[in-house]
Amino acid sequence: MTKPKNVRPTTEPQTEKKPIGRPPGSPNVRETAVAVPSRCNACGSTEREPYLDRNDLEFAGVDSGGKAFTHIVRRRVRCAGCGQMRIDVTRENRVPPSR
Ligand SMILES: [Zn+2]
Repeated sequence: MTKPKNVRPTTEPQTEKKPIGRPPGSPNVRETAVAVPSRCNACGSTEREPYLDRNDLEFAGVDSGGKAFTHIVRRRVRCAGCGQMRIDVTRENRVPPSR
């Protein structure tokens, strides 16, 4: 078999279709984490509109479940069920950037 004439260097973006499925050698998933969506205090709906803004506060501590966190994030959002505004507060535990 002969090589095609216009062989692109591998650094260029590939336009070919991506192969379906995980690449060979991918590790199996062993852990499951349950993520609970925020809920409207007025009507109980978990449906929401897109977040309007976001405020990151660097504040380390331990939450009520005993899990450590490094940042407190507040996002303003409107309930899609009843229109009530609320602020979703999440405590994130961020891994320091590896060197
Ligand atoms: Zn609501």
